[in-house]
Amino acid sequence: MIVVLRLNHRKERDKRISTHIGLVSRAFFADKIIYSGEHDDVLINSVNKVSKAWGGEFLAEYSKDYKKIIKEYKLKGFKIVHLTMYGLLLNDKISQIKSEKNILIVVGGEKVPFDVYQAADYNVSVTSQPHSEVAALAIILDRLIEGNELIHEIKGVKKRIKPNALGKSFYE
Ligand code: SAM
Repeated sequence: MIVVLRLNHRKERDKRISTHIGLVSRAFFADKIIYSGEHDDVLINSVNKVSKAWGGEFLAEYSKDYKKIIKEYKLKGFKIVHLTMYGLLLNDKISQIKSEKNILIVVGGEKVPFDVYQAADYNVSVTSQPHSEVAALAIILDRLIEGNELIHEIKGVKKRIKPNALGKSFYE
């Protein structure tokens, strides 16, 4: 099981990027996203609306207390994978991470408190350069599913795009 925890969401400044983190999580087969930071019903509803329209069991939730979430998932046996540009290279850690049964992927926001680094079982970096939380998340999820996103099926999917050389069509 893969759960994504997005830290420090800010209602106004992060609305698009936090939505994209949710959409990437769902499309790349994570099971759930938990947002912390500012409570934002519009964000939660817009991510859940995509799940409703396109199907699947993906869920977006809010939790005020990220520390509690990390503690709770650790107790459930999840390994904590924190995406940070300062971490060890993902390439060097991916096979170990893939061998874990359940993981909580922590995606930072503007400032990431040091306790997150300390709580993590893996602090990993996708290239050792600053870039985007959306890109870092997409890359780790892609590595976890081995680049097979086109042949994986989201459970309970309602709408499925037929790959088109030109135009737009759906499977019945
Ligand atoms: N200065 C912040 C910090 O304390 O780490 C980073 C802020 S960055 C705009 C937001 C998030 O993008 C980070 O917390 C991390 O999750 C992700 N991120 C950015 N570059 C990354 C990289 N090279 N590898 C992995 N994650 C990255």
